[in-house]
Amino acid sequence: MSEPSKIWLSSPHMGGGELDFIHEAFEANWIAPLGPNVNGFESDIKSYLKTDKQVAALSSGTAAIHLALVQLGVTHGDEVICQSFTFCGSINPIIYQGAKPILVDSEPESWNICPQALDEAIEDRIKLGKKPKAIIVVHLYGMPYQVEAVQDIAQKYNIPIIEDAAEALGSTYKNQACGTFGEFGALSFNGNKIITTSGGGALVCNSNDAKSKTVFYATQARDNAPHYEHTHIGFNYRMSNIVAGIGRGQMKVLDKHIGLRRKMHLFYKDIFKGVDAIEVFEEKADAVFSNHWLSAINVKAEANFTREDLRLFLLEDNIESRPLWKPMHMQPVFKDLPFYGGQTAEDLFERGLCLPSGSNLTEEEKNRISTKINEFLKQYGLI
Ligand SMILES: *Cc1c(COP(=O)(O)O)cnc(C)c1O
Repeated sequence: MSEPSKIWLSSPHMGGGELDFIHEAFEANWIAPLGPNVNGFESDIKSYLKTDKQVAALSSGTAAIHLALVQLGVTHGDEVICQSFTFCGSINPIIYQGAKPILVDSEPESWNICPQALDEAIEDRIKLGKKPKAIIVVHLYGMPYQVEAVQDIAQKYNIPIIEDAAEALGSTYKNQACGTFGEFGALSFNGNKIITTSGGGALVCNSNDAKSKTVFYATQARDNAPHYEHTHIGFNYRMSNIVAGIGRGQMKVLDKHIGLRRKMHLFYKDIFKGVDAIEVFEEKADAVFSNHWLSAINVKAEANFTREDLRLFLLEDNIESRPLWKPMHMQPVFKDLPFYGGQTAEDLFERGLCLPSGSNLTEEEKNRISTKINEFLKQYGLI
């Protein structure tokens, strides 16, 4: 018997209109890291976010966070606070700047930065002689962090927030779009994100000036001169006009895709209904709206199985699932960094699993997933 086809955790889902924008770019010979698609994509994002802020399209979400740090003046020897429970793209740019990440634990409700641990971390770093230059906080899996609590702390110490909304395009807190709360907001259009340009990102900026600076740094910091003149070090981080064409097509289906991702969440809620050993990750306050980029579960401590048992069982049928993010303070490369908090992020990693969540899963694939999970639950006497 041949192996069943692979069911991916999250795969690209084209809407159909993307190629039209790419054809236009070819016809006009706009094959460059600027052009009508770049401008169009930026204004599409801006209106989608319903914001007065400005949007700069870049080559990746990591580049967006990097340019935020550059503009906040983060440099050698500085310290920057970052949520530990995240993807390395949130934190690596701190190292690119020669600065030191200070890692902070999560809280169990949103799985994002714990305000109390954040406050303690800032207090302690100041006591040790250095006030952190920025706070990087993440809306993981599309779930908004405790926006107001984090903002209060940032204001109390007067430290700017870089909001990592790479996974949260379309999520809102009190009807305001994620990505618009910080001094800067980073978005990602990598291949596995809720919409993709194959690879890409954007930085949401507080002013026209901040956007101009972002574009300046993203295009090798070229000063205004007929020749190439440089007074700053820049980067090659601007988005290509071809890639932006994919983005313009994807913006047309974003809301539809969010609806489908949220349906996947309900699909898992239904499968695990009445299974006490499993918590399906969900919105816990009215103020919060998640795009449910990835559906995730948490296997409770008292369960008679582990998340690895379930992951390997699904893999037998070629169904991909993945442990939650391994916290940065547990990563070999970051193990010596300061960490503030307790066990929450570590527990989430030990017990949590992301399940196939794509907006393009077919009914047949969903049947395969539910059949396999039900088989697992029966095997462990849970249904
Ligand atoms: C994807 C992601 C990034 C980085 O985005 P890229 O476009 O892949 O560079 C940063 N932070 C988080 C939380 C992400 O999921």
